Parts: sequence; C-alpha cells; structure tokens
Amino acid sequence: MKPTNPPKTYRVTSFGCQMNVYAGERMADLLGERGIAPAPQGEEADLVVLNTCHIREKAAEKVYSDIGRLKKPDGTKPMIAVAGCVAQAEGEEIMVRAPAVSMVVGPQAYHRLPDMLDKAVQGERATDTDMPAIAKFGALPQRRRSTPTAFLTVQEGCDKFCTYCVVPYTRGAEISRSYNSLVDEACKLVETGAREITLLGQNVNAWSGEDEAGRAVGLAGLIQALAKIDGLERIRYTTSHPNDMDDALIAAHGEVDKLMPYLHLPVQSGSDRVLKTMNRSHTAESYLRLLERFREARPDIALSGDFIVGFPGETDAEFEETLTLVDEVRYSQAFSFKYSPRPGTPAATMENQIAREVMDERLQRLQASLNRDQLAFNQSLVGKTCDILVERKGKHDGQWLGKAPWLTSVWFTEEDGRSAEIGDLVQVELIEAGPNSLQGAMRKAAIA
Ligand code: SF4
Repeated sequence: MKPTNPPKTYRVTSFGCQMNVYAGERMADLLGERGIAPAPQGEEADLVVLNTCHIREKAAEKVYSDIGRLKKPDGTKPMIAVAGCVAQAEGEEIMVRAPAVSMVVGPQAYHRLPDMLDKAVQGERATDTDMPAIAKFGALPQRRRSTPTAFLTVQEGCDKFCTYCVVPYTRGAEISRSYNSLVDEACKLVETGAREITLLGQNVNAWSGEDEAGRAVGLAGLIQALAKIDGLERIRYTTSHPNDMDDALIAAHGEVDKLMPYLHLPVQSGSDRVLKTMNRSHTAESYLRLLERFREARPDIALSGDFIVGFPGETDAEFEETLTLVDEVRYSQAFSFKYSPRPGTPAATMENQIAREVMDERLQRLQASLNRDQLAFNQSLVGKTCDILVERKGKHDGQWLGKAPWLTSVWFTEEDGRSAEIGDLVQVELIEAGPNSLQGAMRKAAIA
C-alpha cells in the first residue's frame, strides 16, 4: 500500500451489542486525542472504522460488502480499519480478501489503533488480534464527553461456552476491570454529563474485584460504590447470566435507590433438554425461581430476556415449553432470534438442524406472546407518575423523549409553562400506552 496523508476526519460505525458501542466510543476518544475530528454529518470521512459484530449469520460477508461500498466523492477509497468480533474471527483473512483495508484490530487490541494508524500512513498494513484485555483499559484516554446515558464496560469475555455462541472465541476469557479504575471512569463520565450509567459485560454479574479497603466485592458492591457518586442518578447493568447471580445483587434491587427496577436475564429456551444441549448449565425451573426472588426484592421490577427458536433438535413440544415459560414470566420486553449456525461453534455441526420455515413459524408465535406481554406491561404503568431522564427532543414543540425507570420509552409534553432540557430528570404522569412506548404529561420540572 502506498504512503498517504494522515486522516483529518474519522467515522466509527459500530454494529451489534452495547459493548461494541462502548468500544466505538473509546476508539473515537483515541482518534480525537490524535487531533482527528469526527466527519461532519453526511460528509465522507478520511478514515472509516467498521466496528463489526459476529453474532448473525453471514456477518463476515456483510463486512466485505460494506467495505466494497465505501467510496469518497472523488471515487477514491477512505482509509479503512476493521475492528470488533469479525476482525478477531477473520484476522489476516480480511487483509487477503479486502486489499483496500489498512488495519484489522480485535476487540481486545483497539487501544493500539493510533500506532497502527501511524504505520498505515507509511503504507504498512497491520493486523492485531492479541487479547490483552486488561492492558487495553489502562491504555485508554480519559473520557472526553458523555451523553446523559453512558455505557461503562466493567467485565469482558466469557467462560460459559454456550454451544451456539462465538463470544468466548472472539472476546476471550472472563476478565474484570479493577474497582478503582471503574469508580474513576464513572466519576469522569458524570463530570462530562452522564446522569445514568449502564454497566456492561458479556457476563456483567460475573464481575468481581477488591474495594478501596481491599475487601472482595461482587457487582452489588460496585453498584453500591457508584451509587455514592454525586450527580449520578441511575445505574443499570447488562448482560447477566443466571449462574452468576448472588444474594447481594438480588438484595441490591431492594436497597439501592439509584439501581433501576430493570433486569435483563437471557434464558434462550424453556426446555431443559434444549438448555442442556445449549450448555446453559441451568434449568427452566431454576431460572423461574431466580426471577421470583428478584420480584420479592423489587415487586415492580421489569424483566427482560433473550430467546433462540429453532435450536438444532428442538421439537414442537420443547418449543411449547418456551411459550409456557414466557406465559409464566410476562416479560416487559424481550429479544428473540432464529437460531443461526456460527462457524466454529459446536451447535453448527449438530444433527437435526431445524428447517427455516419451522423457525419462522415458531418465531412469529413467540413474538406474538412477547408483544402481548410488552403491551400489557406498558398498560400497567398508565396512571403512574414517575421520573423520566430526558434523552432528546421530540418532533413537535415542547415534546421530549426519555426513559422511565423500567427502561420504557416515554414521549411527553411540557405542561403549564414547565420546560425540560436534555439530561434533566423530570416527573411525568403516564397517560397512554402503546406497544413500544408510552405518552405522558410533565408534572414537575427538573427534580435533580
Ligand atoms: S453466556 Fe452469553 S456470551 Fe457467554 S457463551 Fe453463552 S451466550 Fe455467549
């Protein structure tokens, strides 16, 4: 590749999970620290970072077609870096198949992006899929800016090896960032505008560390520490695994006011035989009992889940068990997908792969139940007055959008001369419920 001028502008496009969004924000901080500016809306950037996700079928093929489409108005290609889980899984292969790519960097090595950029400017293409997860965080710059709602990665990697999942192969073993570095970064986020922080991890509730006195603490201990930060009003966490839940975290939902009444806990299937072949190491019954304990600790807690339909070998009767579990839990929201074989995972070579039309039919039935319950949950909130964190302006004058404590979206209007601003916590009476959001009227201006 020929030497080229250093890029003046960049665009980081992140696909997939919130941890990729967090990584994308950190890569933007790294490039900003080098004096490279975000490309203005609608303008092509000198440097494009495709921060990829490997979860869906044909994920890798999508990256190659995205690369093919990148062109500057003068027909030349911008400088291209491929990051994220497809970069980790494909590595050098991307360099062979896509000559236009200058840098391939895995999710645990993106702190080295500036050094790779220096080489690329000299015409040297570079691949880095090393996995020094902890070292990465130590090498990242201070947070530069934050929106009212911010993400904070506290844990990375996964040791569970569910048979359908690539994460243990693309993100490596479970690691926990240090207690002190997390409290520091959370304080920085609040100083730069965050009012709500969502703690992120592939198995966030596997986080463990030592507090400032050297005592061993789990996620509940970290949440209690963060709750002491002035200006931080709300704390959330995602994504958890049933087997890493402990009494302290359940109790925290009843004790820590700033911990929001929302729990995202994937289950994937309601059939114990399917859960076994998925290597989920829990049963439907143990999962249901766990949710019961959360509801005892915080009766108005909103529950969310993840589901896979059509896992190899799943029978009609086993799919019915999933519907039965959904009827029992009544989720406030949930994410559901058709099984898609991922190269290199045990399930991809399992017998009895399910036909696509059967998967389609099962997904439709499952989503009908989940949508029924989501609407019912939203309707149960009508008449309540609650705090809303204002995230952005609505289409109409005096209309705003924000999130309720249960992570439900609320459109509300200013009333009686009260006005709102992005980042405010305001009190809103919930008046009308829809399938995906609620309508409300502001009853009290900024309360914090
Ligand atoms: S626990 Fe989650 S991230 Fe880990 S292997 Fe299972 S599905 Fe993947």
